[in-house]
Amino acid sequence: MSEENGANHNHEHCGIFTIGPNIPIQGVWRDICYTPVVDNIWSVSEGIYRSIFLEGKKGTIAFDTLTTPGTARAYAGAVGRVFPKKPIHTIVYSHEHLDHTGYAADLAPEADIIAHDYANQVIVARKSDGQLPATEIFEGERKAYSIDGCDFELIYPGPTHGDGNIAAFFPQSKVLFMVDTVAAGVGYCYLMDWHMAHYVEVMRRFLSLDWEIFVPGHFWIIDRKQFIEILNYWEHQIEFAQQAVIDGVDPHDWKGLNQYTEEKLGPTDREMFRYYEYAAINLSRYMQGYLSGGWGIEGNMTPDLSPL
Ligand SMILES: [Zn+2]
Repeated sequence: MSEENGANHNHEHCGIFTIGPNIPIQGVWRDICYTPVVDNIWSVSEGIYRSIFLEGKKGTIAFDTLTTPGTARAYAGAVGRVFPKKPIHTIVYSHEHLDHTGYAADLAPEADIIAHDYANQVIVARKSDGQLPATEIFEGERKAYSIDGCDFELIYPGPTHGDGNIAAFFPQSKVLFMVDTVAAGVGYCYLMDWHMAHYVEVMRRFLSLDWEIFVPGHFWIIDRKQFIEILNYWEHQIEFAQQAVIDGVDPHDWKGLNQYTEEKLGPTDREMFRYYEYAAINLSRYMQGYLSGGWGIEGNMTPDLSPL
């Protein structure tokens, strides 16, 4: 590894892995694609994960750190290529998951870090190697920031995924950025700390805000209409899972789940992105939510669902 990549520490940050001393795949360089969104907002992706960064007057603000130490260094390289004279002085964490915010120590170890209090409580308790705690937290639902000429609002809409998962809203640019919630296709809602009970209603709160472009934490950028269509899909999934229980489908029988899903959802949904990877897993996850009562405190407390 070269000094240019910022790898000037003695060991590779290992997250919460307990075997070691090194996990080579964590350090692998990934090529990062960067693209202008609108105004001073840029987006970065290595193909699966996506984030944004902002051009300020003196430096840049990076949202998230991408997935691994190697990816975080490549992210810093991408920002540096676009704005070689503007160092990353601030990082904003979308939520506490390591695959999105685990490696500030590799992205920009001296930067200020902003996170929601809920996310930071997890980060402080977790003590993951490479995930730096916030230097500035915000509590409650909304907070407006003006940093180095960049104006945005951070919004915690209620429980969605992980803890303290926030959106960034850019009113002048009509852009909304939020990670691991709405994204193209049918993926990821099976993950363990998905707060599915109120998910759709919590996400619909964003429709009271004026934005046109939605930048998700995965895959490509979408518009408001696609955002609504994706929420409608998940709303339908909630009813579909209940019907599957009534119809006697066993959520642990993968063959049966696949058959039932293909028969019932295939005709309308099989063209959706990653349908064949996730549709049956989603069904199992949603069925188990109904059979067990759901997961955790956040997933079961009724949040504020009024317009933002
Ligand atoms: Zn996540």
